[in-house]
Amino acid sequence: MSNNRKRHINKVIVLGDSGVGKTSLLKQYVNKQFTHSHKPTIGADFLLKELIIESQVVQLQLWDTAGQEKFHSLGAAFYRNSECCILVYEMTEPKTFDTIDTWRSEFLTQLNPKDPDNFPFVVLGNKCDKESDLKVDLQKVKAYCSQKNMQHFEVSAKDNINIDTAFEEVAKLAFKRDQEDEV
Ligand code: GDP
Ligand code: MG
Repeated sequence: MSNNRKRHINKVIVLGDSGVGKTSLLKQYVNKQFTHSHKPTIGADFLLKELIIESQVVQLQLWDTAGQEKFHSLGAAFYRNSECCILVYEMTEPKTFDTIDTWRSEFLTQLNPKDPDNFPFVVLGNKCDKESDLKVDLQKVKAYCSQKNMQHFEVSAKDNINIDTAFEEVAKLAFKRDQEDEV
């Protein structure tokens, strides 16, 4: 099939501790909605977002997960063919940043890509609207992200800050990864 006519579906997985705002970020990005309620996500579910990258129609398949569950309970099959992973922490809760590296390495263990060091991750520090309560050490965050070659965005699902910019980067990385896979 020619590249032009192919439907691109790019699979993205969102990970991070319970309550950091994974579901809220996806709902804000895809549906432009925000609610204050926190209904724990059960298992995993996806939302679709269509966008154009390099003149091609791309469907981002964004998988929301339940952070409180043991990671491996989703099973390796869940991660298969992922093209990007979003790691979310909460800027007001440093301990949610401290677990990011565990989420990252467990993701890589499950997906088991040939080139783990080059797999695309994007890190989102959510709830940047809570300005008086930002407790995370940004120097530490930035040092960690650059060491692992991951982009970092300060975002707010509540106030829709930086969401489109961050997901655009995710979409580009996933698209690029998808293209590389086919070579
Ligand atoms: P999840 O468990 O990671 O899916 O987290 P949720 O999306 O369910 O959000 C947990 C709680 O944080 C909810 O009460 C949300 O309303 C709240 N929340 C999510 N994003 C933001 C944000 O950007 N700013 C603020 N102030 N609250 C947020
Ligand atoms: Mg959730």
